Amino acid sequence: MKMEELYSGKAKSIYKTDNPKQFIAEFRDSLTAFDGKKMSEAAKKGYYNAQISKKIFEMLEEEGIKTHYIDMVSDTEMLVDAVDIVLIEVIPRNIAAGSITRKYPIEEGTVFENPVMVLDFKSDEFGDPMLNEDIAVAMGIASYEEIEQIRSMALKINDILKNYLKEKGFLLPDFKLEFGRKDGEIVVADEISCDTCRFWDISTGESMDKDIFRFDKGDLSKTYEEVAKRIVPEIFE
Ligand code: UDP
Repeated sequence: MKMEELYSGKAKSIYKTDNPKQFIAEFRDSLTAFDGKKMSEAAKKGYYNAQISKKIFEMLEEEGIKTHYIDMVSDTEMLVDAVDIVLIEVIPRNIAAGSITRKYPIEEGTVFENPVMVLDFKSDEFGDPMLNEDIAVAMGIASYEEIEQIRSMALKINDILKNYLKEKGFLLPDFKLEFGRKDGEIVVADEISCDTCRFWDISTGESMDKDIFRFDKGDLSKTYEEVAKRIVPEIFE
């Protein structure tokens, strides 16, 4: 049973339930970019992202990766484990795009032979600065063992997701993962959706993700619908 709101983020709201070990994550139609400086809404965005995220979490579970996903309680609401979020955003990168091309002399589209793993401090206040293991441990946000586990899970997820998406006609330049502690165990948390991944159409190279919104490249709802048609065709039947 959905109870009071615990937290409202930029695109999702988290609610308590009558079970202290479970939360409900509601995917909303609002979206922001550039540290919240650009804000908007897109019809059905929450619905498509919730459904895409659900499907990807289920697929990862089948591959033996633990996630916080339990069940859907409505089209846009996901029942999840109430985890203690590790304040690290883990970004596996396969093809250069976005911030890595602005911060370093790396051209957009450069294919990385080995995935480049970027760890950022999840903090709006500090603007998500890049971390290394020592800084994360010094701040007390994770232990060396946890970071090692997070890195190896992220690498494995990247492999699985890259192959999964290739079959659906997407390249996966990069994406963001969050992890949480559930009874001392590290599990994937947050969402894996058009808001948190770069999806490039495999034949045209066109963005089919939040870059549509960031750079005013077209109709976001239509684009997310196209992604949903490939990943969750069953919701259109
Ligand atoms: N990302 C995210 N949340 C963030 C920052 C990044 O989901 O707060 C995702 C983003 O959608 C992209 C990847 O992580 O798929 C890498 O983002 P990048 O560092 O390039 O940031 P950007 O260029 O988008 O500002």
